[in-house]
Amino acid sequence: MSADTAVEPVERGAAGQSAASRLFAGGANAGHAAHLAAYGTMPRRAPGGSLAQELEASGLTGRGGAGFSAWRKFAAVDLSRRPNRYARRTGAPVLIANGAEGEPLSFKDATLLHNAPHLVIDGLLAAAEALGAGSMFIYAGAARLEPVAAALAERADARSIALLEAPDTFVAGQASAVVNFLETGRALPRDLAGRLAESGFKGRPTLVHNVETWAHVALVARYGADWFRAEGTAEDPGTRLVSVTGNVPSEVVLEVPGGAGLGDVLASAGVGLDAVSAVLVGGYHGCWVRPSGMVLSTGAPSGGAPSGPPSPGAPSAGWVRPGAGVLHVLGVGRCGLEATARMVDYLAGESARQCGPCMFGLPALADVMKRLAAGSGAPDLVREVERLSALVSGRGACHHPDGTVQLIHSALETFADDVRWHLAGQCLAAARADGAAQ
Ligand code: SF4
Repeated sequence: MSADTAVEPVERGAAGQSAASRLFAGGANAGHAAHLAAYGTMPRRAPGGSLAQELEASGLTGRGGAGFSAWRKFAAVDLSRRPNRYARRTGAPVLIANGAEGEPLSFKDATLLHNAPHLVIDGLLAAAEALGAGSMFIYAGAARLEPVAAALAERADARSIALLEAPDTFVAGQASAVVNFLETGRALPRDLAGRLAESGFKGRPTLVHNVETWAHVALVARYGADWFRAEGTAEDPGTRLVSVTGNVPSEVVLEVPGGAGLGDVLASAGVGLDAVSAVLVGGYHGCWVRPSGMVLSTGAPSGGAPSGPPSPGAPSAGWVRPGAGVLHVLGVGRCGLEATARMVDYLAGESARQCGPCMFGLPALADVMKRLAAGSGAPDLVREVERLSALVSGRGACHHPDGTVQLIHSALETFADDVRWHLAGQCLAAARADGAAQ
């Protein structure tokens, strides 16, 4: 899976407003000159006045998975850095661009860092000026840092940005794990209760965004909120990168507008819906959906269910949150329970082994899912999944157990027919592949 081959064809347009791509308008592996030719120089002031105002009006959400409002995190850091009667001044803010991308099915961040590192750098520098930040870091695996190091060497305005080599684990990209790594050298998540915007690295206000989010910050700082909202929908403005993997002609990264139809995105990747059984949206902590009529959106599309999904990422009324921007295609004839069991086994092995329910509960869940996938025929397996899920949900210092349970529940719902066949000792997908079941 090469970052070189994964980029969409790029049409160079005026000032980065290419019809083909916003984030790759500089072209493949863009150096600083190509970057400036595509996007122009950064303005001294954001178009509407302040970067905070533009971010709020843009509606930009984080592109790393959780989908928090980029402006709310920015505003929280801005508030925390100001001395007030309740809190002593804790030092200049710290900004971190997180490209760890521990999700095994994602390679959009690697693709972005390879091709458009200068956008990430611009986003950090724009926020540093607005927030008076004292330290900036780009955190990613060693191979992903190479193009970033080359980009930093090209410019004199980015010497204060340091590179941090992330370990290759699933939880290393969790925001609190990133800050923990910076402090202790161990990329282990911390308790959920801590708010990094108030007290992150060494007690300083700390803003951690995914690298793609920082690239969008750079574009909002350049062109403003109205430009950002010209793509996407009112509920999910702008564009995002998605990694498309699985039963596809070739694994690609696509830049798609918010509110895109899942069928349209798959068609762009050369995949017809008649060849698809289901799609895992959002990655190993995401959920399985049937793609027909499904829309990728961070908020309920107009006319959709107003209350939104019951849990982050869960599909509801024809829309699903994109999470980490992963679309993993399960072809017709492939067994969704077998695929899920493999993923849960991997996730159980990626527990950071700090919390008992996660350390012991996830391997137990993986074992039950393996037995279900194997068609053991034991009738109480689904009840056992429910019992174990209740034991681990909400019981970790991070969301690792909750994300794992969400994946399992979506599989049991989406592959309900398969579950019935497996409990009877047979595989529906295999029968379909043989033409025995219609
Ligand atoms: S919930 Fe699991 S992955 Fe998260 S901190 Fe606890 S042991 Fe580590």
